[in-house]
Amino acid sequence: MNKVILIKYGELTTKKGNRKFFINTLYNNIKNKLKNFDVKIYKDISRMYIEFNDIDLDIILMKINSIFGIHEYLVAHKVETSEHAIKDCLLNILKDKKFSTFKVETKRSDKSFPISSLEFSKQIGGLILKNYKNVSVDVHNPELLLKIEIREHYTYIYTNSYKGLGGYPNGTLGKAMLMLSGGIDSPVAGYLTLKRGIRLECIYFEAIPHTSIEARNKVIELTKKLSKYTDKILLNIIPFTEIQESIYKNVDSEYCITIMRRMMYRITEKLSQKRNCLVICNGESVGQVASQTLTSMSVINDVTNMPVIRPVACMDKLEIIDIAKKIDTYETSILPYEDCCTVFVPKHPVINPKLSKCLECEKKFDYEGMIEKAINNCKTIEIIEKKSKQEYKDLL
Ligand code: ATP
Ligand code: MG
Repeated sequence: MNKVILIKYGELTTKKGNRKFFINTLYNNIKNKLKNFDVKIYKDISRMYIEFNDIDLDIILMKINSIFGIHEYLVAHKVETSEHAIKDCLLNILKDKKFSTFKVETKRSDKSFPISSLEFSKQIGGLILKNYKNVSVDVHNPELLLKIEIREHYTYIYTNSYKGLGGYPNGTLGKAMLMLSGGIDSPVAGYLTLKRGIRLECIYFEAIPHTSIEARNKVIELTKKLSKYTDKILLNIIPFTEIQESIYKNVDSEYCITIMRRMMYRITEKLSQKRNCLVICNGESVGQVASQTLTSMSVINDVTNMPVIRPVACMDKLEIIDIAKKIDTYETSILPYEDCCTVFVPKHPVINPKLSKCLECEKKFDYEGMIEKAINNCKTIEIIEKKSKQEYKDLL
């Protein structure tokens, strides 16, 4: 008796024109994630099938649970499509199951199979009742739901299925530059962007010696956690000290954060263009801090024409934290190392900044030269899920 992992596609099945491209991308992503396992993967228009070695099952399922574009997955028994083989297999499966109520659901996509779905479910129900005493049918709330999918050559029989991550397969919608701080919001924003099929590159601004190597390691660790949902991610580390110090020397304290964020956006835009990123993504959340009022956001956003996606803009902090816990970034995000935003935070940051005042402040120092320099001195490292912290230290 053969077992196979069966994968049902998510939203992509509604994208009619792109369906083939989406399925092929998903297929390649799965193949890539499972490249170190002895598996055979094949696909048709509505399902993907993975034949596997039994000892690897748990770890393969864990990997599948981190791939976008999968709506549902399950482990099915695979038998040839014949009445006799299906019934035999069913009785075998039920041998080690404990249940008192059950329901059978049949789906017959091979219409040359001579028995209708409804009739076949009834026949199987009868067979189970005959072989097991003290069990009964419950169509509303069965303890055991037995599903039978009859296809042309093979039939798939299963009892449990699991919800996949959903979304679109990674790499189907271009690339974004994620502004990744060590906080809670931006990794969640990155995860939600990946979920839309968008690949990521990350940009992190650091102001050493005002910020520490630990703060940088935290961002490396967060990038690593995000890479679980895609393959490798490039992390760009921008030396921001000179710009930040100039801002604090030249700009009124209440405007420092606004100007600092305008500089971050300018650098992010420039690097995005160099790296073919079509959008900027960040963890801004409306109303969370002074720089995230609508007026602040629009004055800051004024420095770029690139689209900016803010996946957590309208979420409550608790909703964001829930996702951060689910994707295992929360514990890393709350480590207490200071970020360049928090180091210099003024007592009274402006809540409703004026664009004219920003332009006036920015005349006081040659920020363009500094921006060029910061980009030229950017360090880029490739982050993959399994590298250790030490290995990344050696790279820098
Ligand atoms: P987070 O929002 O991720 O919890 P935070 O609260 O420290 O971190 P905010 O001050 O809310 O950050 O900044 C809003 C967004 O700006 C962040 O979500 C992130 O996308 C971006 N950002 C802030 N600081 C940095 C940084 N040092 N490097 C890269 N991006 C940053
Ligand atoms: Mg925040």
